Amino acid sequence: MDQTTKPPPHVLIFPLPLQGPVNSMFKLAELLCLAGIDVTVVVTEHIHGRLLRYTNIQDRFNHYPGFQLKTIPDGLPADHPRSGDKFMELFDSLKAKTKPIFKDILTSDCLTAAGSRRPVDFIIADGSLGFTCDVANEIGIPIVYVRTISPCCLWVFFCLPKLIEAGELPFKPAEDDWDVLIKNVPGTENFLRRRDLPSFCRLGDLDDEQVQFYKSEGEENSRARGLILNTFEELDGHVLSQMRTICPNLYPIGPLHELLKAKLSTQKATPLPASSSSLWQEDRTCMTWLDSKPLKSVVYVSFGSIATLTTDQLMEFWHGLVNSGIPFLWVIRPDSIAGKDWESNIAADLREATKQRGYIVGWAPQEEVLAHPAIGGFLTHNGWNSTVESIYAGVPMICWPYFLDQLVNSRFVSEVWKLGLDMKDTCDRSTIEKTVRDLMVVRKQEFTERATEMAEFARNCLKEGGSSYCNLERLVKDIHSMMS
Ligand code: UDP
Repeated sequence: MDQTTKPPPHVLIFPLPLQGPVNSMFKLAELLCLAGIDVTVVVTEHIHGRLLRYTNIQDRFNHYPGFQLKTIPDGLPADHPRSGDKFMELFDSLKAKTKPIFKDILTSDCLTAAGSRRPVDFIIADGSLGFTCDVANEIGIPIVYVRTISPCCLWVFFCLPKLIEAGELPFKPAEDDWDVLIKNVPGTENFLRRRDLPSFCRLGDLDDEQVQFYKSEGEENSRARGLILNTFEELDGHVLSQMRTICPNLYPIGPLHELLKAKLSTQKATPLPASSSSLWQEDRTCMTWLDSKPLKSVVYVSFGSIATLTTDQLMEFWHGLVNSGIPFLWVIRPDSIAGKDWESNIAADLREATKQRGYIVGWAPQEEVLAHPAIGGFLTHNGWNSTVESIYAGVPMICWPYFLDQLVNSRFVSEVWKLGLDMKDTCDRSTIEKTVRDLMVVRKQEFTERATEMAEFARNCLKEGGSSYCNLERLVKDIHSMMS
């Protein structure tokens, strides 16, 4: 069959069932649909239920004839939190229970049932779902991984065997000095400290399941034909060149959320309704509240979709924010506070002070919030999506990393990119108050200038001929050429 009459490739996308990866993989799916590729996104039943409840995602994708959504069980009971300290159970369950079903789905004809699409030619899966690569290899379908965590942390994962071999890990969490510099992560020797390593390194136990899981990441990721990353060359060039020594074929196509907007803006067709893949109900009233605030006057506070706070930490943040005197918009996710009845324990004077300068929602339209002119800073847990969104929006950050890659990200934000202040390992009201004032008042000009400069780089890489734009074109070309 000649190239012009060949049906389009059929790509199966399998995101890790968490908010950040779901957000970026749906954007990638839409980018591929726009490039004329048939796409099946497989999501867990748990995620599917929440997408149906809170989003119009299916309406949005109905626009693309080549798009379909399929579901798969994650093997956990319906009431499992899938967050906080139960987070790793999700990985275990996916590996044990979802793998065989994934293979059945790929080998049955249910994926070709809709229309005239070809069987799956190509898989794009989250790189922490290693079983997808086993199945792809068994069946003989090419696979590329997507990593929705940061490249800087992925690079640390790649170096874990070296850190262990050199005796830098384990260190004794209770006794050793956490400010000692790490020597065996090439390119980071001058700034990466023990305390900036992924959180499981603090356990001091090489047998821990997370250490075991993440230390094979280098090997695992090099099994795939390439790695798609939500970053751009101008931000992460040094780390990417280190990573290419292990995984030569990288596709840095970030900031993904904005690459999609840029592509959509060039379409001649009627604009699509705005879409969201939020797994919580977005409270849009905060946008009206922001409209009433002066330019760059508000600090936005959010710790993402997985982090949980103790009631003590909640109270320290609350007092710190109120005492700073800076207006704040705070996302307190319904399931994010460990401990019941915390709301009834908030003193009347604190409630009153909050009414004067704060606004609290359960979930916000974050990309829109960050793009709002009233936002001057972001107090964040440095999940990678939030970090990239903040960089694109030109908003400086106060970093309060919660776990995993966030500890590495916050060090890069503060020491490498100079885009904010790292507050890791502290959570007292006076430090919070001071850090908020430092970012929003004392060093405002310095951080705003730097953030504006980096945002400009981010915008340029999405333009025709820009690095992320070209990397996406290369990905689409490679999908076509790997088609059997
Ligand atoms: N997010 C949102 N509304 C909120 C808080 C977060 O839409 O109120 C989105 C945010 O824009 C980001 C994702 O949720 O895309 C969180 O992903 P991230 O990687 O930052 O953190 P994680 O949730 O994985 O810890």
